[in-house]
Amino acid sequence: MASQGPSSDIEAFRTLLKGSKRVLALCGAGLSASSGLSTFRGAGGMWRNHDATVLATPEAFAEDPGLVWLFYSYRRHKALQAEPNPAHYALAELARRMPEFWCLSQNVDGLSTRAAHPSAQLKLLHGSLFDIKCFNERCGYIERDNFNDPVHPSLAITSEEDPRMDAAGTTNETSDSSAGAQNGRNSSKRSSTDQTIPTSQLPHCPSCRTGLLRPGVVWFGEALPVNTISEISNFIARGPIDLIMVIGTTATVYPAAGYVDVARRKGAKVAVFNVDGADLGSATGLGKEDFLFVGDAAETLPSALKEMK
Ligand SMILES: [Zn+2]
Repeated sequence: MASQGPSSDIEAFRTLLKGSKRVLALCGAGLSASSGLSTFRGAGGMWRNHDATVLATPEAFAEDPGLVWLFYSYRRHKALQAEPNPAHYALAELARRMPEFWCLSQNVDGLSTRAAHPSAQLKLLHGSLFDIKCFNERCGYIERDNFNDPVHPSLAITSEEDPRMDAAGTTNETSDSSAGAQNGRNSSKRSSTDQTIPTSQLPHCPSCRTGLLRPGVVWFGEALPVNTISEISNFIARGPIDLIMVIGTTATVYPAAGYVDVARRKGAKVAVFNVDGADLGSATGLGKEDFLFVGDAAETLPSALKEMK
């Protein structure tokens, strides 16, 4: 039975990588785990007294943009205090020596960019905390890789106990819970005087001058960046894929979940780097041709990606 499972032979993996030309990596939160960042996802995804999954919506931004901005300003601040770890650097180095290696990342933390991962080979499926775009979709303005902290004077997080955040109630809360489920989007509309930061003080779009600027992350209920998705589809369609590395993610969310199967159909071996060797999500069903490296990606990846002479 043991012979049917995936290999954990690092030399065999290096030989496969050396003979590979077209390679994908699908990255998730586990890539950044040892950099110490909270993703505010899943159970317990609370920020102050707010459910992070409620704040990460266009509806919450429309209702109280200052509150949502403070949440993201806080996350930008924390991400800038964190440092890229050896796994980010190892992937960036691999990208430099392998032109047809693309890293598809679900992370918004900017750490791969700060590890100097070549931008043409880094596809951010969920956008970035450090992209700033216009809330008016018809405008289309976007600024990439703005690492200013704070992004705007009104959004400075001066202390962990910023009173502006305590003053704001829980978003989307309505007095009538049954009606709230149906009409939460409209019925809880606040007047501008209830807003955490007056709209006039928030950053506005330098292009259309009327729209508010917003974080360039993909919020719940929003489509993934169309150009990014079509670039990835074109890359996959161009030819066989030799290898897909699945790093720190169970990749159960579409379309990330589909990339493992698509790559397999294009001939790819699968190599999983994950702290949990039991729950592999979309990468389950590894065969004896595939690889599984259990552990912190910051430890397993640099050694696996080391250049062979
Ligand atoms: Zn605009």
